[in-house]
Amino acid sequence: MPDTMRAMRIHELGGSFRLEAAPVPRPGPNDALLRLRATGLGLTLVIMRKTPGLISRYPRTMGHEIAGEVVEVGAAVGTVQPGDLVTAHFYLTCHNCNFCRSGRETLCPDFRGYVGLACDGGYAEYMTLPAVNLCKVPEGVSALDACVAADAICTPYHNCVAEAQIKPGDLVAVVGAGGGVAIHAVQMAQVCGGRVIGVDVSEKKLETVSRLGAFAVVNPRKSDPVEEILSLTQGKGVDAYIDYVASKQTLEAGLACLGRGGKLVIVGYRPPMAFGGLSPDFTVNPLELLSKGQEIHGSRYCSMQELRQSLELIRQGRIKPVVTETFKLEETEKGFQMLEKNEITGRAAVVFG
Ligand SMILES: [Zn+2]
Repeated sequence: MPDTMRAMRIHELGGSFRLEAAPVPRPGPNDALLRLRATGLGLTLVIMRKTPGLISRYPRTMGHEIAGEVVEVGAAVGTVQPGDLVTAHFYLTCHNCNFCRSGRETLCPDFRGYVGLACDGGYAEYMTLPAVNLCKVPEGVSALDACVAADAICTPYHNCVAEAQIKPGDLVAVVGAGGGVAIHAVQMAQVCGGRVIGVDVSEKKLETVSRLGAFAVVNPRKSDPVEEILSLTQGKGVDAYIDYVASKQTLEAGLACLGRGGKLVIVGYRPPMAFGGLSPDFTVNPLELLSKGQEIHGSRYCSMQELRQSLELIRQGRIKPVVTETFKLEETEKGFQMLEKNEITGRAAVVFG
């Protein structure tokens, strides 16, 4: 094992990544040391590196959508061993409270922060993590596909299955449909039996959304999305509206085209103080909501079980990870800049040689 490694690190809130030599971390008794094979790049991290209070200290190596080979384990670790290809759950939680014990660990009241924010992550050659956060990758799933499963696929699994509860025949609007997480929701909603209407402001992204099986696409820059969705559903509205943009505008549009018994699922959040623009606070008419029996769901990431099921869906070939750009480690910042400019369809990833 070398003493030092190459790592992309940031030194202040919202700062750019710098390629630096950093010490190879040593695993504690409950940790595993991983050699990274691929690490996803997504808008979540573009937002999080600008959001105060998430990164616990600097310099910090970010990166939570990881696939790596276990190279060493601590004395108390029995769940993974050297040679295993693993990915990781994004949340550092207590693993013992009622939420952690019932598959709702993202609600843990003893939350200890995010992988890559409260501890160093995968934009480096090596990292350590508690073994309890690691999930073995099944045979037949590549490192590149596995890293994307760790957020961009397992999050839509939770959105579609646990929150939107999509059933065969349901009509589902996916908003921001060409983004890294949502593009997999377009597929996941169909695996659940839904028919998808993809909504996005980029024509290029909508082409990919159509190719992935959406029966209709809507560009709000070209036509009124509420009118379009109502027309596409014969005036009934959608059974689920899963919003990966979650602005005031998209959320209120969601309520306006939600059918009887429909579910509005809120996934994204952009803090206005970091991104400018309007507050995403939106108005709900309680009479509309109760008379139509509608539900509004806040959806946070996923459980470990949902991450494992997402890997299984990739293994079965029923979800195809959409990675349209790959970068070398030293190009991480370039990838973040492209994401910020909305230039990437689906997911991007750093791939280690
Ligand atoms: Zn807990």
